[in-house]
Amino acid sequence: MLDRVVLASSNPGKLRELSELLAAQRVQVLSQDALAISGAEETGVTFIENALLKARHASRESGLPALADDSGLVVDALHGAPGLYSARYAGPGASDADNNRRLITALHGLPPPWSARYHACIVLLRHAEDPCPVIAEADWEGEIQATAAGDGGFGYDPHFYLPQLRLTAAQMSSAQKNRCSHRALALQALLRRWPRG
Ligand code: IMP
Repeated sequence: MLDRVVLASSNPGKLRELSELLAAQRVQVLSQDALAISGAEETGVTFIENALLKARHASRESGLPALADDSGLVVDALHGAPGLYSARYAGPGASDADNNRRLITALHGLPPPWSARYHACIVLLRHAEDPCPVIAEADWEGEIQATAAGDGGFGYDPHFYLPQLRLTAAQMSSAQKNRCSHRALALQALLRRWPRG
């Protein structure tokens, strides 16, 4: 029974969101930090490659099944940037505030609306050599808003505007975000394929 997995991420926002979503399935999520596992090198050129690299590393180091999420913001006017480099858009060790500043600077002078989406790829490896990973991907469509609004969520959420809701992702409650986010949708798809027995 797959009731304990290691999450190949050091991002407290993701750990919180995925733990909340998986608690309902009675799956305990351990962070790789709690097991003193360092992050894998993200050398892939797609979200899916990076998710597999991260999960394989965490599973090999822990001996446990591993879950990894690779996600990011894809902005059409920026040809898909920040994309795979969302966490380090403003350079290695960049803060959310640094990345948001770089995003708004990059869009300066380009005609709005700035269509964008968050993309998430989540993979589950039963063990490090698992040849049949369970893979799920999802998008959350929105627009970039130049002015930051809200203090919930993390990352680019204060600038990620949902026109139908007239809110940024940072203005949503975590429960509301967990119902419609890219990660929630990808995880729901993954859970439908969660190995039984
Ligand atoms: P990863 O840890 O390599 O997957 O990097 C993901 C990065 O994408 C995060 O550090 C954020 O910058 C951005 N990101 C992904 N999902 C979200 C979200 O739900 N809200 C805000 N930013 C996000």
